[in-house]
Amino acid sequence: MTVLTDRATDPAVLSDLRDVRLGQAYFSRKLNELRNAELLEPSRLAGWTRAHVIAHVGYNARGLNRLVDWAESGVPSPMYSSPDARASEISFGATLAPRALRHLSDHAAIALDVAWRDLPVERWSFVVRTAQGREVPVSETVWLRSREVWLHAIDLGNGGRFEDVPAHVARRLIGDVLTTWSSRDSIEYVLVDAATGEEFRAAGSTAQPAERIRATLPALLAWTTGRSRAGVTTGAGGPAPQAPRWL
Ligand code: ZN
Repeated sequence: MTVLTDRATDPAVLSDLRDVRLGQAYFSRKLNELRNAELLEPSRLAGWTRAHVIAHVGYNARGLNRLVDWAESGVPSPMYSSPDARASEISFGATLAPRALRHLSDHAAIALDVAWRDLPVERWSFVVRTAQGREVPVSETVWLRSREVWLHAIDLGNGGRFEDVPAHVARRLIGDVLTTWSSRDSIEYVLVDAATGEEFRAAGSTAQPAERIRATLPALLAWTTGRSRAGVTTGAGGPAPQAPRWL
């Protein structure tokens, strides 16, 4: 039986579903604003055309959909068969004709949304493995997708802005990046929202902070995700260094 409303009941999951749908709509709107000839132009990501970004976002939806299928059926279904398979899929996707690329983007997103909508309430805590090898409840796929659609909409480079990302999404994304850095790098960063004074640190961080970084929330998001250093300063007021790699 087809249901027209989410079967999930956890308020956190329902809130994440609202965010991802908003983000998907934002990505689709930016894509629809591009003419076919513009798809082969460079994106804001080094070495990637807009077509690469669109293909990656489409195949990401399919990969996450495989994780939702896994949770639904209990039959293991990896997000990608290998890192090489993921990369060659993107290179191939970037050569698709504009119509096929737009079709991939729309249909993969709709299929994923339907899979979430129809996932029975008791399956949302089922543990799956992400492409990075992390074991997470399948509910995490909603947030993983949110990060993709919000950031890559901006990466299309046709007017998407970090200011458009909802503040609570930006805060959570910054927290994710800081936590990833602290698990890997020796330098700790404390980020300060220049407008509000709010501070961001890695979860569970106890180390003495080595560097304070100040900017508005959108500029902090752009900096932590490696997109831009504009408007970002050190605690001493100098220009911010290049952020460490995130993913
Ligand atoms: Zn991505």
